[in-house]
Amino acid sequence: MPSPLKLYDNYTRSLRSFDPLGTGAVGLYTCGPTVYDYQHIGNFRTFLFEDVLRRVLEWNGYAVEHVMNITDVGHLTSDADTGEDKMEKGARRTGKSAWEIAELYTAAFLDDMHALNIEDPTILSRATDHIPEQIEFIADIEKKGYTYRTSDGIYFDTSKQPDYGYLARLDKSGLEAGKRVNLGEKKHPTDFALWKFSPPSGKRQMEWPSPWGVGFPGWHIECSAMAQKYLGDFFDIHCGGEDHIPVHHTNEIAQTEARVGTRLANFWMHGYFLLEGDAKMAKSAGEFLRLKALTDRGYDPLAYRYLCLTAHYRSQLNFTFDALDAAATALDRMRRAFHALPAGGTPDAAYVDRFTSEINDDLNIPKALAIAWELARGERIDPSTAKATLAAFDRVFGLGLEAWQPKQEAVPETVHALAAARAAARAAKNWAEADRLRAELHAAGWEMEDKPEGYALKRR
Ligand code: AMP
Ligand code: ZN
Repeated sequence: MPSPLKLYDNYTRSLRSFDPLGTGAVGLYTCGPTVYDYQHIGNFRTFLFEDVLRRVLEWNGYAVEHVMNITDVGHLTSDADTGEDKMEKGARRTGKSAWEIAELYTAAFLDDMHALNIEDPTILSRATDHIPEQIEFIADIEKKGYTYRTSDGIYFDTSKQPDYGYLARLDKSGLEAGKRVNLGEKKHPTDFALWKFSPPSGKRQMEWPSPWGVGFPGWHIECSAMAQKYLGDFFDIHCGGEDHIPVHHTNEIAQTEARVGTRLANFWMHGYFLLEGDAKMAKSAGEFLRLKALTDRGYDPLAYRYLCLTAHYRSQLNFTFDALDAAATALDRMRRAFHALPAGGTPDAAYVDRFTSEINDDLNIPKALAIAWELARGERIDPSTAKATLAAFDRVFGLGLEAWQPKQEAVPETVHALAAARAAARAAKNWAEADRLRAELHAAGWEMEDKPEGYALKRR
């Protein structure tokens, strides 16, 4: 019997048995991209972890209702709610409107997501399509006494919640002590914006009327509002990158707790960062690696997917091209091995159980991959059974093994000429010349297979 599914919950800081809250689909909310620029491969590491999580839930027989938001307003350049809206800044950078860049970068995100074999969310919801829900949410917690007004917006008063910051185990008194740093009109360092007013001096590209004045929603409120709308007051799993623990998710929990008294989700799971040169990869740093930078260098997008599968989602991963090369080679070998195995088998129950136990151990995908390699190497198993078992595993890996076809490589003219000369030498029983030509073909990387009706050429 395989082990039942266990997942690491950052709220309780423990590995817990996953028992769905309801009898219907499992509710999964994942924080989506902020579409002021392209997503980098670090962002996609988190989206890949979330995709694998969803596939593992499906492997365990659950239907999954997966909601992902698109942040197209309200994410400020500083997480402390100062600075500019990233969208307006992106619009200035590109000379396009904020609405245009939202379209452009959402489409680019979806293209890359599909290239990486990430399954489409059940619902993809834009923050700007949910302004009334966000206003209603804020009005509700205002009535309950959790908010206050400053000259630039409506803020959440975190001192009203004794357990504020529990997810991140925030040291509130330490933060209070350090509050001389630029608090502005905020009462406490951890207070955050629910609604920001448009600047008195000018109109914003994205702004809406509200009971408090014209402006735009803060970043955190969109996720609380949309998650609740689509998945209810308390649902199964909420995910994002590790950077979301101290601010964004902490604040989502605070808002939802204020409105309905729950911590929003039963499990809080986080993907740990992709680093580059041991530093965090960040869009705000200006330079970052996009998936396109990899494909421009000739890498298959799924080689990056494979690379991410080799590391556990709860440890940081340092990106290097050497590591990507190794992943590309391994993926190629796995594809070829899979392709060479005969069809017609059924999955092997013992292998399936071992695999399930690994992926159910908080998504131990590196170990699951090691099991897949036993099959690809054909160790102690009937080849058609190995193929069927690998095909089943690939529902979790998402490497597209069944769809892959070897490329038919064009044979260069010079190689054809050598082969024809060797065939002629053989026909003339000139064995020395035939051997010499075969050695030349080898040196060029080709092999000639003699057949009754002629010959075939293949790569060595
Ligand atoms: P953003 O577009 O900045 O809202 O981020 C989209 C997702 O990527 C969020 O879940 C972030 O937590 C995550 N993320 C950001 N930087 C990285 C990184 N270097 N490695 C892994 N995930 C990241
Ligand atoms: Zn979010």
